[in-house]
Amino acid sequence: MEFSILADAFSKMEATKKRLELTQYLVELFEKTPQDVISKIVYLLQGKLRPDFEGVELGVAEKLAIKAISKSSGIPVKKIESEYRKGGDLGYAASVILEQKTQTTFLMEDITVERVYETLYKIAKLEGSRSQDMKMKYISSLLNDATPVEASFILKILLGTLRLGIAENTVMDALAVAFTGNKENRKVLEHAYNVSSDLGKVAEIVAKKGMDGVEKFEISLFNPIRPMLADRVKSEEEAVEKMGDRFAAEYKLDGERVQLHVEGERVVLFSRSLENISSYYPDIIEKIPKSIQADKVILEAEAVAINENTGEFLPFQELMHRRRKYKIEKAVSKYPITVNFFDVLYYNGKSCLDLGYEERRNLLEKIVKEDEYAKHVPMSIVTNKNEIEEFLENSINSGCEGLMLKMLDKPYQAGSRGNYWLKLKREYRNELGDSLDLVVIGAFFGKGRRTGRYGTLLLASYDDDQDMFTSICKVGTGFTDEDLDQLYQILSNKVTIKKNPRIDSEMEADVWFEPELVVEVVASEITLSPIHKAARGAIRKDTGLALRFPKFTGKIRVEKAAEDASTNEEVLTLFKGQKKVAHDKNLI
Ligand code: ATP
Repeated sequence: MEFSILADAFSKMEATKKRLELTQYLVELFEKTPQDVISKIVYLLQGKLRPDFEGVELGVAEKLAIKAISKSSGIPVKKIESEYRKGGDLGYAASVILEQKTQTTFLMEDITVERVYETLYKIAKLEGSRSQDMKMKYISSLLNDATPVEASFILKILLGTLRLGIAENTVMDALAVAFTGNKENRKVLEHAYNVSSDLGKVAEIVAKKGMDGVEKFEISLFNPIRPMLADRVKSEEEAVEKMGDRFAAEYKLDGERVQLHVEGERVVLFSRSLENISSYYPDIIEKIPKSIQADKVILEAEAVAINENTGEFLPFQELMHRRRKYKIEKAVSKYPITVNFFDVLYYNGKSCLDLGYEERRNLLEKIVKEDEYAKHVPMSIVTNKNEIEEFLENSINSGCEGLMLKMLDKPYQAGSRGNYWLKLKREYRNELGDSLDLVVIGAFFGKGRRTGRYGTLLLASYDDDQDMFTSICKVGTGFTDEDLDQLYQILSNKVTIKKNPRIDSEMEADVWFEPELVVEVVASEITLSPIHKAARGAIRKDTGLALRFPKFTGKIRVEKAAEDASTNEEVLTLFKGQKKVAHDKNLI
């Protein structure tokens, strides 16, 4: 398939934000796509080469890309950099530069989607000392044969700046229309996606086998299932109101959610955002098979740091010590954990998602043999407010965050946040009722004791409609010296020369970052703001929402991807909630 077809579709999609138009362009593109290429097209549309959980990263730095443009165009690096600074992104700058190309290649090879994809894949897989040279060679060979527009998209994919604003749902709408003629079939596609986390695979099945194939789609071991999430409630009363008169309460442990895929001795672990985190937990890989009584199984658990002497649960931050590539063995022995199982999603070749909670829990208790290391999450069936309160008290006393409340007869809803599961935390550490998980988009250099580090961070919430990160506050309190050091270490690897196009901020930071790191903050309230961009226009024209007196809680949410951060919709709900509370208390 000619790459120009894809570049043409990219150009059209870049020019619109309207979902209907995007869907239409996607349908047209899919109809022109051969079955064997469809999965590649779906990955490329999202600026990826493989589903996220495989961890295939392009990892090309701007500097290297600039050198490659220079090599293939004969235009000096300095000139390219100055074009880049003028505006637009590097992809766009490259298309301008390549229009003025001084070197001409006479033997232009055809650029196909397959060739671009294979070359990008090779680049992603390169490692070792000569990899930079090889990467440059591959990039410039593509640029040599590409038209300026094609080159601009190749670079955007390479640099991770291709932002078409296409949500997964829009891709699924278009797949349903293109291959089944009916948009309503999206729901069935969605199920396949939720149990495989692989949109390319879903696209290939529907293109090759139609609805029949999608309906028969099954869970595969070692392909992560998108996690079920919970809504929040603020009180025992609200919980009873929403859950009825008999339901399960489990401790809400303050650790890292882990999805375990186990077949004999082979164990693969996925995080909440479906990253393969097996290398951080060699102890789980080694010890867990002994506790599992099943041939093939997918389980969910919370890995929690413990005090070895007392067995007490320790807070989430303790697990941060394991987020390292080297000397992990040392971290494992110094920061021991227990693995606390709370669900079973797949058992010996069969999906368990449609079983009710109670059945799954019984099965789980049969599958996981408890010992010092593997535990069942404490659970109790509750029927009223007092029982909830008592169990909550026990949970907090054991170092947990609160309770997860679960309806007894309800299935596991992969990939959705709903009210079959509710979370109830005891201490609403702030008037808002909950903390927010925000993306670090920029920083300001520190003064005094904080010189040489970032003294204040600029944070954003996630606008999932537009796939953008909208500024919501600056935060400069709540940091210990150790936090500042750690944040500086992590963030200095994420600095960008220019503000990433997915960042929406009027405020100018001293440094900008790739929007990747998520941190937890609390605040006293949410206010209207003329400067910040979160939920702009939702309450009042040209006005956004901002956090008042934000404070870092000490939690760097490494297990969350930027797209898992608090959304503008959530911020808006909290804003409306606080107004309602104030109203109920006759404050306004
Ligand atoms: P939070 O910020 O409160 O952790 P979240 O957005 O990560 O929320 P939620 O679905 O809202 O996800 O809360 C559930 C999280 O709580 C899970 O992702 C899991 O890590 C953790 N958890 C702890 N104990 C349990 C339990 N017993 N059952 C399910 N999840 C649990």
